[in-house]
Amino acid sequence: MNNKKNVMVFIESRAGKIAEVSLELLGAATDLAKKLGVQVEAVAIGHNLIDELSVLGHYGCQRVYYIDDKRLNHFTSIPYAKTVVSTIQAHNPGIVLFGATTMGRDVAPRVASALKCGLTADCTDLKIGEHKIKDKSYQDILLQIRPAFGGNIIATIVSPESVPSMATVREGVMKMVTPNPDLTIEIISEACQVSDDDFLTEVLEVISEERAVNLKAAQIIVSAGMGASDPEAITLAQDLAHALCGELGCSRPVVDSGILDKDHQVGQTGITVRPNLYIACGISGQIQHRAGMSEAKRIIAINKDPHAPIFAIAHYAIVGDVKDILTKMIKAYKKA
Ligand SMILES: Cc1cc2nc3c(=O)[nH]c(=O)nc-3n(C[C@H](O)[C@H](O)[C@H](O)COP(=O)(O)OP(=O)(O)OC[C@H]3O[C@@H](n4cnc5c(N)ncnc54)[C@H](O)[C@@H]3O)c2cc1C
Repeated sequence: MNNKKNVMVFIESRAGKIAEVSLELLGAATDLAKKLGVQVEAVAIGHNLIDELSVLGHYGCQRVYYIDDKRLNHFTSIPYAKTVVSTIQAHNPGIVLFGATTMGRDVAPRVASALKCGLTADCTDLKIGEHKIKDKSYQDILLQIRPAFGGNIIATIVSPESVPSMATVREGVMKMVTPNPDLTIEIISEACQVSDDDFLTEVLEVISEERAVNLKAAQIIVSAGMGASDPEAITLAQDLAHALCGELGCSRPVVDSGILDKDHQVGQTGITVRPNLYIACGISGQIQHRAGMSEAKRIIAINKDPHAPIFAIAHYAIVGDVKDILTKMIKAYKKA
């Protein structure tokens, strides 16, 4: 075991399955660890998870501390937070990463409060760098990057004097690395230190609902903005998505207006997507929308305003009325 402060990832699991966001975070943790010359570790909590844990190694995790207890089979806030706190205290990581999921958003602030350390929520990028303030200079610290002030600025947040530095990252923001089955992992079982008194709530039943739309997995997304939000334009966008075997996305005001469900929303407060093709229909391209789709391999933007900001990141710009263009595209693709 090395004595350097490693990078640790909180592994999330539901119904015995490891969450994708944890695998994405292992990729980010590997990059950070390489720059620091340290190792990637993880903390996994649950029951009968051991067979699932070896896959963490394929994503770059060198060691996982595993706390197995049947009382931890279902997530509850206090026992999980206490277990993460005791694992951090025992192994002293320099950086701890959590998914910005319902579970991560519950656990991470409790852990930060117990350890009196900094936590930055919803980071969109993580880097290692230096920070200077007055006559003090800090080297090799975690730069936690995220939009701030309603997305008007991109802030770099540091917590140089508190260890560990902790951050949450939304699902889809970090790119999942290609797994390497030759990489192995050391699984270290640790005792559960939580007492029965900490289990203030009991999970009686878990009812899960499949997402109606799987934007994250879609290779083609046709996305409707306020310029394509009347029923006819939405139907056209939906038809084009079907013709291309893609999914229908949208901007936030389309959700806020009750036109489409939140599952369709792309952006800073929606889903982060990386499809092969993103067709933005009547979307202005504000920073909060771009934050969720700018990594698409190809972007086609349709907008009647030639100066719309979306054109700055589009590979193909179509200036015109969205309904006219969509009708022509559907006809052409169906024919093809
Ligand atoms: C904290 C915060 C978080 C946010 N999170 C998100 C987020 O996750 N996702 C998100 O999308 N937004 C988000 N927003 C909102 C964001 O700032 C923008 O307001 C929003 O993206 C604008 O949506 P829009 O482009 O659909 O609408 P608009 O800005 O109203 O743009 C409509 C566009 O359609 C064009 N248009 C109009 N009619 C036609 C036509 N007939 N043919 C062709 N083009 C036409 C117009 O030229 C215009 O460019 C967030 C804002 C804040 C403050």
